[in-house]
Amino acid sequence: MGNEIIKIEHLRKDFGSRCVLKDINFTVKPKEVVCIIGSSGSGKSTLLRCINLLERPTSGEIFYHDKDITTGKMSLAKLRSKVGMVFQQFNLFNNLTVLENCVIGQMKVLKRSKKNSEDMAMKFLTKVGMEKFINAKPSQISGGQKQRVAIARALAMEPEVLLFDEPTSALDPEMVGEVLKVMKDLAQSGLTMLVVTHEMGFAQEVSDRVVFMDQGVIVEDDKPEVIFNNPQHKRTQEFLSRML
Ligand code: ADP
Ligand code: MG
Repeated sequence: MGNEIIKIEHLRKDFGSRCVLKDINFTVKPKEVVCIIGSSGSGKSTLLRCINLLERPTSGEIFYHDKDITTGKMSLAKLRSKVGMVFQQFNLFNNLTVLENCVIGQMKVLKRSKKNSEDMAMKFLTKVGMEKFINAKPSQISGGQKQRVAIARALAMEPEVLLFDEPTSALDPEMVGEVLKVMKDLAQSGLTMLVVTHEMGFAQEVSDRVVFMDQGVIVEDDKPEVIFNNPQHKRTQEFLSRML
């Protein structure tokens, strides 16, 4: 076993008779930023959801360090505090303020005091530039601001790796940049990140590795220079030529 945070071996996921992930193998090491690209329906979200057990794998193993999380022995709350997730639709609690959204998980899951949780929330809300909005409700802020709050909420749990599922896909175009900027800063600060995205510029510029998925398989997993400038597989070439 190496020093991987996440190691996936022969992962398969079926929905009914439909196989949507087939023999997925890959690893995420500390401080790595890995982007996952591919067409809609290729299984990207299902893969992320399997990694924090929002979906149960049909077979195969997913190791968090040396623990196989598919055995059910690790608590889901503990796993999800270590392996955080940021969703396309933000998933903020609309009845809570920005600050409360960033505090509740820390108190419930990590059993932190209210004071410690608030201090931690302020630290990360400041990091994403949302410290002036702590008393706002989600309905009072923009989509880009909501996603920055969702990122601060995830960071306040001090995860070891953060999964992002198309974090800018639900945003108006003028708000995409502010969220990508926050994500780029996080990447440069050494956060381990696994990012499903259609933002090819971000993938090219920020990632250490790019994984291209098609029809439930990993077709290609390589450095961004190779994926974008010299893809080895015809399916990768075809996908990228459609994106440009
Ligand atoms: P992507 O994120 O790459 O667009 P998804 O992982 O969302 O792809 O979906 C992969 C395939 O699995 C799609 O065909 C989708 O319809 C199917 N799928 C996803 N979630 C479910 C589910 N809960 N039940 C049945 N089929 C699903
Ligand atoms: Mg998806």
